[in-house]
Amino acid sequence: MTNQQQPKSNADFDAIVIGAGFSGMYTLHSLRDKLGLNVTLFEAGNGVGGTWYWNRYPGARCDSDSYIYCYTFDKNLLQEWNWSERYPEQDEILRYLEHCAERFELKPDIQFGKRVVAITFDDETTLWTVRTDKGDTVTSRYVIAAVGSLSTANVPPFKGLGSFKGKWYHTSQWPHEGVDFTAKRVGVIGTGATAVQAIPEIAQQAKHLTVFQRTPNFCVPARNGKVDPEISKARKADYNGVRERIKNSFFGFELNFIPKSVLQTTPEEREKEFDRMWDDGGFGFWLANYQDMFFSKEANDVIADYLKRKIRATVNDPVVAEKLVPKTYPYGTKRQPLDTNYFETFNKKNVLLVDASTDGPIEEITPNGIRAGGKEYPLDIIVIATGFDALTGPLKNLGIKGRGGKALTDEWKDGPLTYLGLLAAGFPNLFMITGPQSPSVLSNMPVSIEQHVEWITECIRYMREHKLTTIEATPQAQEQWVAHVAEIAGATLMPQANSWYMGANISGKSRQFLPYLCPEGVGGYRKKCAEIAERGYEGFMFDGVSRTETTESRAAE
Ligand SMILES: Cc1cc2nc3c(=O)[nH]c(=O)nc-3n(C[C@H](O)[C@H](O)[C@H](O)COP(=O)(O)OP(=O)(O)OC[C@H]3O[C@@H](n4cnc5c(N)ncnc54)[C@H](O)[C@@H]3O)c2cc1C
Repeated sequence: MTNQQQPKSNADFDAIVIGAGFSGMYTLHSLRDKLGLNVTLFEAGNGVGGTWYWNRYPGARCDSDSYIYCYTFDKNLLQEWNWSERYPEQDEILRYLEHCAERFELKPDIQFGKRVVAITFDDETTLWTVRTDKGDTVTSRYVIAAVGSLSTANVPPFKGLGSFKGKWYHTSQWPHEGVDFTAKRVGVIGTGATAVQAIPEIAQQAKHLTVFQRTPNFCVPARNGKVDPEISKARKADYNGVRERIKNSFFGFELNFIPKSVLQTTPEEREKEFDRMWDDGGFGFWLANYQDMFFSKEANDVIADYLKRKIRATVNDPVVAEKLVPKTYPYGTKRQPLDTNYFETFNKKNVLLVDASTDGPIEEITPNGIRAGGKEYPLDIIVIATGFDALTGPLKNLGIKGRGGKALTDEWKDGPLTYLGLLAAGFPNLFMITGPQSPSVLSNMPVSIEQHVEWITECIRYMREHKLTTIEATPQAQEQWVAHVAEIAGATLMPQANSWYMGANISGKSRQFLPYLCPEGVGGYRKKCAEIAERGYEGFMFDGVSRTETTESRAAE
């Protein structure tokens, strides 16, 4: 369709945003207040906050430093908000997002308690029809899926779960009134980043805690604490600098790799560096270690050895310590948990570790507890900390049907197909924020979220200025992008772990590296996206015609 044939938009909305976390809230603000679009937002929960609305388990807090785990697009907001801790708890982050919702007057345009269940593209009108579980049917020119990367709970199909006489909870669907563990026998299933936060807290309250571990994790100390007012003042004075540094960094933090191979160091030299990173706490050990850590198994082994020694030195019982030492995958290839007394917790008398490889895997959930390795462990409460159907799960659940009625679930049955993780061929005007094949979960996410929201806003501005109706990826650009993402991941150690990055935590999910590890970091990815836009949205089609063809036909006219 050419420009002249553009249908007059008689849609209910210019844009529909799905999800009211960091992504959706900024998208609503940006499209409504910068572009003047008529926008509505559907959110399944009954409040804003996304991750921080749902994940209310004991110990829930962020692992990014608070001064950068926030929006940076508004200078006044940066100056007026004060974080209490290096890693604030869930309720403080939720209060911050509530504050943002009030500050930018977002709530009047958010429809809470409505889950989007179907999104269908109409080839004639080129509009999307969006349906919710509450019976809404509305049309829109643009749909922005701000549904989160970690918002679809993974509850493994444990045999007998329904028969359990006690209570069970998934950590991301935690009751708002909290859970009282006093005098209870509690079982926690899982030992990922969430469990590493929750286990020490639950162990303090419960009568007895049994931890069911499938794969042990490397942990580094969080070293949480109150924010020093002087440091906070200095950061506020330098927020322009902070913003520029994180935007152009590798992972969206003020962290940089040590620019040499660990194999070129003496044991004394590297031990000193490891001690420094260990004492600093936080993601530095993971994301600012020697530069060959993610590429060379030999280098990785040297670094992993330091963390293994720490586990053995912390856990009193050598048999328990050995169960807690990771042995089956390279360090850093799974999401790094930050811990506060995690390994120490296994020294407590009321804590028992049941390890799938040495004690036997979970066989079933019984009316009275969990049976693993032929033994029943009696429990009153089960906490399921098994994470998420990451990155693709929330998008697949939207019931998306694009051009010609093609279902996204069919198109993506062997893995996601996107261009830049922003748009997909055959699904015009359906933007994803931190979608698969973008840096997303491999970054400090607010940095990546702001980049996507701003890119999408400029793209829609461009389309409106040029009277263009639809944008989508060309199949060629998409094919090349998917191959590029896989090639880069293949050059690292990342595929060697059965991680959720690889989709390996979900049975039947195709195995491939889901986020994009840009060789030039999030700064490089940002540049790439900007250059593509500057070159007239190279690799995209407007109104079903590639940008080059549109320009050529215009020139001919
Ligand atoms: C426990 C935990 C700790 C984390 N810590 C960090 C950290 O330290 N640093 C970091 O960078 N990232 C962290 N993350 C990742 C975190 O998800 C992001 O930082 C950020 O909150 C994502 O924001 P979002 O708006 O993209 O997605 P979300 O916050 O997940 O919000 C998505 C929203 O979409 C809604 N939604 C989904 N599907 C539908 C539908 N069909 N219809 C209607 N609504 C829908 C959901 O209800 C949800 O509210 C953490 C994640 C978890 C789970």
